Amino acid sequence: MDPIPFAKPSLDSGDVARVVEVLESGWLTQGPVTRQFEAAFAEYVGAAEAIAVSSCTAALHLALEALGVGPGDKVVTVPYTFTATAEVIRYLGAEIVFSEVQPETLLMDPEALERTLARVGRDRVKAIVPVHLAGLGCDLERLRNVAAGIPFVEDAAHALPVDLLVGGERRRVGSIGEISCFSFYATKTITTGEGGMVTTDDPALAERMRVMRLHGINADAWRRYREKGSWGYDVVAPGFKYNLSDIQSALGLGQLAKADRFAVERQQLAQRYLAELSELQWLELPPGAQSWSSHCWHLFICRVRPGVGIDRQQVIDGLNEARIGTSVHYKPLHLHSYYASTYNLQPDDYPVSLDHYERSFSLPLFMGMSETQQQRVIQVLKTLQVP
Ligand SMILES: *Cc1c(COP(=O)(O)O)cnc(C)c1O
Repeated sequence: MDPIPFAKPSLDSGDVARVVEVLESGWLTQGPVTRQFEAAFAEYVGAAEAIAVSSCTAALHLALEALGVGPGDKVVTVPYTFTATAEVIRYLGAEIVFSEVQPETLLMDPEALERTLARVGRDRVKAIVPVHLAGLGCDLERLRNVAAGIPFVEDAAHALPVDLLVGGERRRVGSIGEISCFSFYATKTITTGEGGMVTTDDPALAERMRVMRLHGINADAWRRYREKGSWGYDVVAPGFKYNLSDIQSALGLGQLAKADRFAVERQQLAQRYLAELSELQWLELPPGAQSWSSHCWHLFICRVRPGVGIDRQQVIDGLNEARIGTSVHYKPLHLHSYYASTYNLQPDDYPVSLDHYERSFSLPLFMGMSETQQQRVIQVLKTLQVP
Protein backbone atom coordinates (compact mmCIF):
# COMPACT_ATOMS: atom_id res chain seq x y z
CA MET A 1 0.00 0.00 0.00
CA ASP A 2 1.26 3.44 -0.90
CA PRO A 3 1.90 5.76 2.00
CA ILE A 4 -0.62 8.56 2.49
CA PRO A 5 1.19 11.76 3.42
CA PHE A 6 -0.10 14.00 6.19
CA ALA A 7 0.04 17.04 3.91
CA LYS A 8 1.05 17.76 0.34
CA PRO A 9 1.24 20.94 -1.75
CA SER A 10 -1.00 21.20 -4.81
CA LEU A 11 1.05 22.41 -7.76
CA ASP A 12 0.18 22.33 -11.45
CA SER A 13 1.91 23.06 -14.75
CA GLY A 14 0.68 26.67 -14.62
CA ASP A 15 2.51 27.19 -11.32
CA VAL A 16 5.67 25.70 -12.83
CA ALA A 17 5.38 27.84 -15.98
CA ARG A 18 5.03 31.04 -13.93
CA VAL A 19 8.14 30.25 -11.93
CA VAL A 20 10.10 29.40 -15.05
CA GLU A 21 9.02 32.69 -16.60
CA VAL A 22 10.54 34.57 -13.66
CA LEU A 23 13.73 32.51 -13.85
CA GLU A 24 14.04 33.36 -17.53
CA SER A 25 13.31 37.05 -16.95
CA GLY A 26 16.61 37.53 -15.17
CA TRP A 27 14.98 39.36 -12.19
CA LEU A 28 14.89 36.89 -9.31
CA THR A 29 14.56 38.87 -6.10
CA GLN A 30 11.72 41.09 -4.87
CA GLY A 31 10.44 43.05 -7.85
CA PRO A 32 7.42 43.50 -10.12
CA VAL A 33 5.94 40.02 -9.55
CA THR A 34 6.08 40.48 -5.78
CA ARG A 35 4.24 43.80 -6.14
CA GLN A 36 1.61 42.01 -8.24
CA PHE A 37 1.27 39.28 -5.61
CA GLU A 38 0.85 41.89 -2.87
CA ALA A 39 -1.86 43.71 -4.82
CA ALA A 40 -3.73 40.48 -5.58
CA PHE A 41 -3.52 39.36 -1.95
CA ALA A 42 -4.72 42.72 -0.59
CA GLU A 43 -7.70 42.52 -2.90
CA TYR A 44 -8.44 38.91 -1.99
CA VAL A 45 -8.68 39.55 1.76
CA GLY A 46 -9.99 43.11 1.45
CA ALA A 47 -7.04 44.87 3.11
CA ALA A 48 -5.66 48.27 2.15
CA GLU A 49 -2.05 47.07 2.32
CA ALA A 50 -0.32 43.72 1.90
CA ILE A 51 3.42 43.28 2.39
CA ALA A 52 5.07 40.07 1.17
CA VAL A 53 7.66 38.61 3.52
CA SER A 54 9.86 35.53 3.81
CA SER A 55 7.64 33.75 6.39
CA CYS A 56 4.73 34.19 8.77
CA THR A 57 7.29 34.28 11.57
CA ALA A 58 8.87 37.33 9.88
CA ALA A 59 5.40 38.83 9.47
CA LEU A 60 4.64 38.43 13.19
CA HIS A 61 8.01 39.93 14.12
CA LEU A 62 7.53 42.94 11.81
CA ALA A 63 3.98 43.45 13.08
CA LEU A 64 4.95 43.60 16.75
CA GLU A 65 7.98 45.77 15.95
CA ALA A 66 5.77 48.22 14.06
CA LEU A 67 3.45 48.44 17.08
CA GLY A 68 6.46 49.46 19.15
CA VAL A 69 6.68 46.30 21.29
CA GLY A 70 9.91 46.29 23.27
CA PRO A 71 11.53 45.46 26.61
CA GLY A 72 9.17 45.93 29.56
CA ASP A 73 6.07 45.32 27.46
CA LYS A 74 3.79 42.32 27.74
CA VAL A 75 2.17 40.57 24.79
CA VAL A 76 -0.69 38.13 25.31
CA THR A 77 -1.05 34.98 23.20
CA VAL A 78 -2.33 31.41 23.59
CA PRO A 79 -0.32 28.35 24.66
CA TYR A 80 -2.15 26.20 22.08
CA THR A 81 -0.07 27.17 19.05
CA PHE A 82 3.20 26.72 17.20
CA THR A 83 6.28 28.28 18.79
CA ALA A 84 6.60 30.91 16.02
CA THR A 85 3.60 32.79 17.45
CA ALA A 86 5.34 33.39 20.78
CA GLU A 87 9.06 33.40 19.95
CA VAL A 88 8.77 36.70 18.08
CA ILE A 89 7.68 38.39 21.32
CA ARG A 90 11.04 37.36 22.77
CA TYR A 91 12.91 38.64 19.67
CA LEU A 92 11.77 42.11 20.81
CA GLY A 93 12.67 41.56 24.45
CA ALA A 94 9.05 41.68 25.60
CA GLU A 95 7.33 39.28 28.00
CA ILE A 96 4.97 36.55 26.83
CA VAL A 97 1.72 36.16 28.75
CA PHE A 98 -0.26 33.04 27.90
CA SER A 99 -4.05 33.13 28.06
CA GLU A 100 -6.09 29.91 27.98
CA VAL A 101 -8.14 28.59 25.03
CA GLN A 102 -11.76 27.42 24.87
CA PRO A 103 -12.19 23.65 25.25
CA GLU A 104 -14.43 23.14 22.21
CA THR A 105 -12.66 25.31 19.62
CA LEU A 106 -9.13 25.57 21.09
CA LEU A 107 -9.27 29.29 20.23
CA MET A 108 -8.39 32.21 22.53
CA ASP A 109 -11.11 32.36 25.21
CA PRO A 110 -12.62 35.86 25.68
CA GLU A 111 -13.39 35.16 29.35
CA ALA A 112 -9.88 33.90 30.01
CA LEU A 113 -8.53 36.97 28.20
CA GLU A 114 -10.52 39.20 30.52
CA ARG A 115 -9.00 37.47 33.56
CA THR A 116 -5.52 37.60 32.02
CA LEU A 117 -5.72 41.34 31.36
CA ALA A 118 -6.98 41.97 34.90
CA ARG A 119 -4.16 39.84 36.33
CA VAL A 120 -1.23 41.42 34.46
CA GLY A 121 -2.66 44.94 34.23
CA ARG A 122 -4.04 45.98 30.86
CA ASP A 123 -1.81 49.09 30.74
CA ARG A 124 1.27 46.86 30.43
CA VAL A 125 -0.13 44.83 27.52
CA LYS A 126 1.11 46.25 24.24
CA ALA A 127 -0.53 43.76 21.87
CA ILE A 128 -2.67 40.62 21.75
CA VAL A 129 -1.85 37.77 19.35
CA PRO A 130 -4.80 35.41 18.87
CA VAL A 131 -4.39 32.36 16.65
CA HIS A 132 -7.04 31.32 14.13
CA LEU A 133 -6.63 27.57 14.58
CA ALA A 134 -6.98 24.82 11.98
CA GLY A 135 -9.08 27.02 9.67
CA LEU A 136 -11.58 28.27 12.25
CA GLY A 137 -11.41 31.98 13.10
CA CYS A 138 -11.42 33.42 16.62
CA ASP A 139 -14.44 35.42 17.75
CA LEU A 140 -12.56 38.66 17.15
CA GLU A 141 -15.55 40.84 17.93
CA ARG A 142 -15.81 39.44 21.47
CA LEU A 143 -12.04 39.46 21.96
CA ARG A 144 -11.79 43.06 20.80
CA ASN A 145 -14.59 44.11 23.14
CA VAL A 146 -12.67 42.59 26.04
CA ALA A 147 -9.37 44.15 24.93
CA ALA A 148 -10.91 47.62 24.62
CA GLY A 149 -8.34 49.25 22.38
CA ILE A 150 -5.27 47.03 22.80
CA PRO A 151 -4.08 46.30 19.23
CA PHE A 152 -4.41 42.81 17.74
CA VAL A 153 -1.85 41.02 15.63
CA GLU A 154 -3.63 37.96 14.27
CA ASP A 155 -1.72 34.77 13.59
CA ALA A 156 -3.62 33.88 10.42
CA ALA A 157 -1.23 31.10 9.31
CA HIS A 158 -4.21 28.71 9.18
CA ALA A 159 -6.82 31.21 8.05
CA LEU A 160 -6.75 31.67 4.29
CA PRO A 161 -9.60 32.12 3.52
CA VAL A 162 -11.79 32.63 6.61
CA ASP A 163 -14.75 35.02 6.95
CA LEU A 164 -15.76 36.38 10.35
CA LEU A 165 -18.93 38.07 11.51
CA VAL A 166 -17.88 41.51 12.77
CA GLY A 167 -20.36 44.29 13.50
CA GLY A 168 -23.08 42.29 11.78
CA GLU A 169 -21.03 42.04 8.59
CA ARG A 170 -19.06 39.15 7.12
CA ARG A 171 -15.46 40.23 6.74
CA ARG A 172 -12.44 38.26 5.66
CA VAL A 173 -9.56 37.60 8.04
CA GLY A 174 -6.83 39.98 6.93
CA SER A 175 -9.13 43.00 6.88
CA ILE A 176 -10.29 43.12 10.51
CA GLY A 177 -7.60 43.50 13.19
CA GLU A 178 -4.75 46.02 13.22
CA ILE A 179 -2.39 43.54 11.54
CA SER A 180 -2.82 39.98 10.20
CA CYS A 181 -0.01 37.55 9.43
CA PHE A 182 -0.28 34.73 6.87
CA SER A 183 1.98 31.79 6.04
CA PHE A 184 2.81 30.22 2.69
CA TYR A 185 4.89 27.41 4.21
CA ALA A 186 4.78 24.16 2.21
CA THR A 187 1.94 22.62 4.24
CA LYS A 188 -0.35 25.65 4.41
CA THR A 189 -3.53 26.29 2.36
CA ILE A 190 -1.53 28.06 -0.34
CA THR A 191 2.25 27.85 -0.63
CA THR A 192 5.31 29.58 -2.01
CA GLY A 193 7.60 26.93 -0.47
CA GLU A 194 8.49 29.40 2.26
CA GLY A 195 6.82 32.78 2.51
CA GLY A 196 4.30 34.98 4.24
CA MET A 197 2.17 38.08 4.00
CA VAL A 198 1.25 40.79 6.45
CA THR A 199 -1.87 42.90 5.92
CA THR A 200 -3.10 46.12 7.52
CA ASP A 201 -5.34 49.09 6.80
CA ASP A 202 -3.03 51.47 8.65
CA PRO A 203 -0.65 53.30 6.27
CA ALA A 204 1.84 54.18 9.03
CA LEU A 205 2.13 50.56 10.21
CA ALA A 206 2.45 49.43 6.59
CA GLU A 207 5.23 51.94 5.95
CA ARG A 208 7.18 50.84 9.03
CA MET A 209 6.85 47.16 8.09
CA ARG A 210 7.93 47.85 4.48
CA VAL A 211 11.01 49.69 5.67
CA MET A 212 11.93 47.06 8.29
CA ARG A 213 11.34 44.19 5.83
CA LEU A 214 14.40 45.27 3.87
CA HIS A 215 17.28 46.47 6.06
CA GLY A 216 15.52 49.61 7.30
CA ILE A 217 16.03 51.23 3.93
CA ASN A 218 13.57 54.01 3.27
CA ALA A 219 11.91 52.67 0.15
CA ASP A 220 10.56 56.01 -1.00
CA ALA A 221 13.96 57.60 -0.77
CA TRP A 222 15.39 54.63 -2.65
CA ARG A 223 12.82 54.98 -5.40
CA ARG A 224 13.50 58.71 -5.67
CA TYR A 225 17.21 58.17 -6.00
CA ARG A 226 16.77 55.37 -8.49
CA GLU A 227 14.57 57.51 -10.68
CA LYS A 228 17.44 59.95 -10.84
CA GLY A 229 19.66 57.03 -11.79
CA SER A 230 21.57 57.45 -8.56
CA TRP A 231 23.15 54.85 -6.28
CA GLY A 232 22.00 56.64 -3.13
CA TYR A 233 19.63 55.40 -0.44
CA ASP A 234 19.06 56.05 3.24
CA VAL A 235 19.01 53.56 6.11
CA VAL A 236 16.60 54.85 8.73
CA ALA A 237 16.67 51.89 11.17
CA PRO A 238 18.51 48.59 11.73
CA GLY A 239 16.00 46.55 9.71
CA PHE A 240 15.71 42.90 8.81
CA LYS A 241 16.14 40.78 5.68
CA TYR A 242 12.57 39.52 5.38
CA ASN A 243 11.64 40.15 1.74
CA LEU A 244 10.05 37.61 -0.62
CA SER A 245 11.57 36.88 -4.03
CA ASP A 246 9.79 37.16 -7.38
CA ILE A 247 10.40 33.41 -7.83
CA GLN A 248 8.27 32.71 -4.77
CA SER A 249 5.72 35.41 -5.59
CA ALA A 250 5.16 33.87 -9.03
CA LEU A 251 4.18 30.64 -7.30
CA GLY A 252 2.05 32.61 -4.84
CA LEU A 253 0.09 34.37 -7.59
CA GLY A 254 -0.94 31.07 -9.16
CA GLN A 255 -1.76 29.54 -5.79
CA LEU A 256 -3.83 32.54 -4.71
CA ALA A 257 -5.92 32.28 -7.87
CA LYS A 258 -6.81 28.73 -6.77
CA ALA A 259 -7.40 29.51 -3.08
CA ASP A 260 -11.21 29.41 -3.34
CA ARG A 261 -11.18 26.13 -5.25
CA PHE A 262 -8.72 24.64 -2.74
CA ALA A 263 -11.03 25.69 0.10
CA VAL A 264 -14.02 23.96 -1.50
CA GLU A 265 -11.98 20.80 -1.92
CA ARG A 266 -10.86 20.78 1.72
CA GLN A 267 -14.44 21.47 2.76
CA GLN A 268 -15.58 18.33 0.93
CA LEU A 269 -12.83 16.24 2.51
CA ALA A 270 -13.75 17.54 5.98
CA GLN A 271 -17.45 16.84 5.43
CA ARG A 272 -16.67 13.26 4.44
CA TYR A 273 -14.56 12.70 7.57
CA LEU A 274 -17.27 14.25 9.73
CA ALA A 275 -20.04 12.11 8.19
CA GLU A 276 -18.14 8.81 8.10
CA LEU A 277 -16.49 9.05 11.50
CA SER A 278 -19.48 10.27 13.48
CA GLU A 279 -20.40 6.71 14.51
CA LEU A 280 -17.13 6.21 16.43
CA GLN A 281 -17.97 6.62 20.10
CA TRP A 282 -14.37 7.00 21.20
CA LEU A 283 -13.66 9.84 18.79
CA GLU A 284 -14.34 13.53 19.34
CA LEU A 285 -14.58 15.26 15.97
CA PRO A 286 -13.44 18.87 15.40
CA PRO A 287 -16.02 21.67 15.56
CA GLY A 288 -17.24 22.96 12.19
CA ALA A 289 -18.06 26.54 11.23
CA GLN A 290 -19.35 28.68 14.12
CA SER A 291 -21.86 31.53 14.26
CA TRP A 292 -18.94 34.00 14.12
CA SER A 293 -16.61 32.18 11.69
CA SER A 294 -16.46 30.12 8.52
CA HIS A 295 -14.02 27.18 8.45
CA CYS A 296 -11.37 26.66 5.76
CA TRP A 297 -10.22 23.27 7.13
CA HIS A 298 -6.47 23.72 7.07
CA LEU A 299 -6.22 20.96 9.69
CA PHE A 300 -8.52 18.20 10.90
CA ILE A 301 -7.72 17.95 14.61
CA CYS A 302 -9.46 15.03 16.37
CA ARG A 303 -9.46 14.11 20.03
CA VAL A 304 -9.84 10.77 21.78
CA ARG A 305 -12.70 10.97 24.27
CA PRO A 306 -11.60 10.77 27.90
CA GLY A 307 -12.13 7.47 29.69
CA VAL A 308 -12.68 5.28 26.61
CA GLY A 309 -9.70 3.05 27.35
CA ILE A 310 -7.74 4.02 24.26
CA ASP A 311 -4.99 6.55 24.14
CA ARG A 312 -3.86 8.94 21.47
CA GLN A 313 -0.62 7.07 20.83
CA GLN A 314 -2.49 3.83 19.99
CA VAL A 315 -4.43 5.71 17.31
CA ILE A 316 -1.30 7.26 15.85
CA ASP A 317 0.46 3.84 15.90
CA GLY A 318 -2.51 2.25 14.13
CA LEU A 319 -2.45 4.88 11.41
CA ASN A 320 1.32 4.68 11.06
CA GLU A 321 1.17 0.89 10.65
CA ALA A 322 -1.21 1.48 7.75
CA ARG A 323 1.34 3.98 6.36
CA ILE A 324 -0.91 6.96 7.00
CA GLY A 325 0.75 10.22 8.02
CA THR A 326 -0.46 11.97 11.17
CA SER A 327 0.62 14.86 13.32
CA VAL A 328 -0.20 16.47 16.66
CA HIS A 329 -1.32 20.11 16.77
CA TYR A 330 0.03 21.26 19.12
CA LYS A 331 2.17 20.39 22.08
CA PRO A 332 1.23 23.53 24.04
CA LEU A 333 4.06 26.00 24.46
CA HIS A 334 3.97 25.95 28.27
CA LEU A 335 5.04 22.28 28.13
CA HIS A 336 8.19 23.07 26.15
CA SER A 337 11.32 23.43 28.26
CA TYR A 338 12.16 26.97 27.10
CA TYR A 339 8.78 28.49 27.96
CA ALA A 340 8.34 26.36 31.10
CA SER A 341 11.70 27.38 32.53
CA THR A 342 11.65 31.04 31.40
CA TYR A 343 8.22 31.67 32.91
CA ASN A 344 8.26 29.00 35.60
CA LEU A 345 5.15 27.31 34.20
CA GLN A 346 3.60 24.04 35.35
CA PRO A 347 1.69 21.70 32.99
CA ASP A 348 -1.64 22.30 34.77
CA ASP A 349 -1.30 26.09 34.65
CA TYR A 350 -3.23 25.75 31.37
CA PRO A 351 -5.45 22.73 32.02
CA VAL A 352 -7.60 23.05 28.89
CA SER A 353 -4.55 23.15 26.62
CA LEU A 354 -2.92 20.28 28.51
CA ASP A 355 -5.99 18.03 28.43
CA HIS A 356 -6.73 18.57 24.74
CA TYR A 357 -3.13 18.17 23.72
CA GLU A 358 -2.90 14.78 25.46
CA ARG A 359 -5.92 13.53 23.53
CA SER A 360 -5.37 15.12 20.13
CA PHE A 361 -4.11 13.89 16.77
CA SER A 362 -4.58 15.29 13.27
CA LEU A 363 -5.72 13.34 10.22
CA PRO A 364 -4.34 13.88 6.71
CA LEU A 365 -6.28 16.46 4.71
CA PHE A 366 -4.78 18.04 1.61
CA MET A 367 -5.72 19.24 -1.85
CA GLY A 368 -5.59 16.32 -4.24
CA MET A 369 -6.35 13.70 -1.55
CA SER A 370 -8.38 11.03 -3.36
CA GLU A 371 -11.58 9.46 -2.09
CA THR A 372 -9.77 6.11 -2.04
CA GLN A 373 -7.03 7.55 0.15
CA GLN A 374 -9.56 9.08 2.49
CA GLN A 375 -11.58 5.85 2.73
CA ARG A 376 -8.39 4.05 3.76
CA VAL A 377 -7.92 6.50 6.65
CA ILE A 378 -11.57 6.08 7.64
CA GLN A 379 -11.40 2.27 7.51
CA VAL A 380 -8.28 2.14 9.68
CA LEU A 381 -10.00 4.27 12.32
CA LYS A 382 -13.16 2.15 12.15
CA THR A 383 -11.25 -1.09 12.64
CA LEU A 384 -9.04 0.11 15.49
CA GLN A 385 -9.41 -2.27 18.42
CA VAL A 386 -11.11 -0.27 21.14
CA PRO A 387 -11.38 -2.18 24.42
C1 LIG B 1 3.10 27.66 10.19
C2 LIG B 1 2.75 28.53 11.34
C3 LIG B 1 3.48 29.68 11.65
C4 LIG B 1 4.78 30.03 11.00
O1 LIG B 1 4.72 30.13 9.63
P1 LIG B 1 6.09 30.26 8.80
O2 LIG B 1 5.62 30.81 7.50
O3 LIG B 1 6.64 28.87 8.70
O4 LIG B 1 6.98 31.18 9.53
C5 LIG B 1 3.01 30.51 12.65
N1 LIG B 1 1.92 30.20 13.36
C6 LIG B 1 1.20 29.08 13.12
C7 LIG B 1 -0.03 28.82 13.92
C8 LIG B 1 1.62 28.20 12.12
O5 LIG B 1 0.95 27.06 11.91
